[in-house]
Amino acid sequence: MQPGSMVGFPRFLPPDQLLVRDLLGQLRAFEAAPPAIQRATQAVQLGSLVSHAAAWSPFWRARIAAAGIDPRAPFGMEMLTRLPVLSRADVQANAAGMRAHVPGTGPGDVEPTSTSGSTGLAVRVERFRPLYKPLYEAASMLDHQWHQRDSRRMLGIYVRTVRDADGTRWGPPISWFEAAGPAFLRSTATTSAEAFLDIMRERQPAYVATYPSALRALAAVALERGATMPPVSQFITSTEPVTAATRALARRVFGARVTDRYSCEECGWLAHQCPVHDHYHVLSANVVLEVVDDDSQPCPPGQIGRVLVTALHSYAMPLIRYELGDLAVLGDGCDCGITLPVLAGIEGREREFFVLPDGTRRSAAFNLALAEPGMDILEQQMRQYSCGTIEVLLRAGRPIDDAGRARIARFVGGLLDNAFPVRVRQEASISWTGQRKHLALHRVERPYAEEGRAAAFL
Ligand SMILES: [Zn+2]
Repeated sequence: MQPGSMVGFPRFLPPDQLLVRDLLGQLRAFEAAPPAIQRATQAVQLGSLVSHAAAWSPFWRARIAAAGIDPRAPFGMEMLTRLPVLSRADVQANAAGMRAHVPGTGPGDVEPTSTSGSTGLAVRVERFRPLYKPLYEAASMLDHQWHQRDSRRMLGIYVRTVRDADGTRWGPPISWFEAAGPAFLRSTATTSAEAFLDIMRERQPAYVATYPSALRALAAVALERGATMPPVSQFITSTEPVTAATRALARRVFGARVTDRYSCEECGWLAHQCPVHDHYHVLSANVVLEVVDDDSQPCPPGQIGRVLVTALHSYAMPLIRYELGDLAVLGDGCDCGITLPVLAGIEGREREFFVLPDGTRRSAAFNLALAEPGMDILEQQMRQYSCGTIEVLLRAGRPIDDAGRARIARFVGGLLDNAFPVRVRQEASISWTGQRKHLALHRVERPYAEEGRAAAFL
């Protein structure tokens, strides 16, 4: 559906809503443009961001100069790879110097946010609200249109950190442009999968917005009960990776399609699932997304690598080649009519799960540095091989002896009901690419205790 054909538009929209409608129109035109035009447009946007960063941020001025880039010269996409990867530790250590506020930037223009991942390093960034917010909302509408959702139908929301609500409606930006039908919200923290299924049976939502792990829990309970569930049109997911098995489960138990979105707290939407296929299209108008190997060289399609993002709207605190800590695989083109780059799969996200022998999943989000504070653990990777064996790789500031490795093995084994043998190895460095035989891959870059205490570890 083209935005111009949307029915039920209020005749007069406030300026912020007009801006979102205008941006949405631009995104719709951009998604079908020849890839060479998309790249040329990105190069212009990137050049603008780089020259802004060089002008207003001491950190970026030095980094851009060291890369031999003249911020006043026209920018070519190939120049991007001259800049080093920006790690989470870089952002933590240089937050003040990374700011690029022009004089006159008001407090309302800058939106601080902090990643609250269950693992890794808590990172505080500042988003440039005048650009970030309308782009975020336009990209939300884009996802809504790609997947042809009918907002007059019932929406159920089952996520963390919401207050339960009944008798509510679809919210902005969708409600600005379309008739907003009924919705209800339940928190995954306080409502069990059993209780949410009961509500689904009663209200029969056409759409359920939730996490893949919660979707699996709902499907497991429905199968256990053996009762036929009312059909769901789409499970709208985000935050965790979606496996082919989860998609198959949604189809089998609810007759539903999973429509997934890929985002991060720092940069907003990164990619939406293709309207036709299960892979993703990168939102190149908002972000430059690279997939690189251990030497920071681009991975060809089909090869798993580290995700680097450059937020084209990050004028308050530029994020250029920022390493998210995710692994992904680029794909070849798509036949759906959208010419945006294809992301074939996203793997190795922070919230991963081990699979127990009975098929249930258990979170791998535990931090061994907290269990063993004396070991000076700096990085951990846990792998589950298809035979079930768990392997724990550790990088630490001091040698870990046999007794220490045995304690770690007992600790991890105990968390998984001692269902699997656990091997523990200490490594000088840990690779996050290659070796894709394992099912689960869980990363703790640098341990932290609580968000507020993260800085104490640096
Ligand atoms: Zn497509």
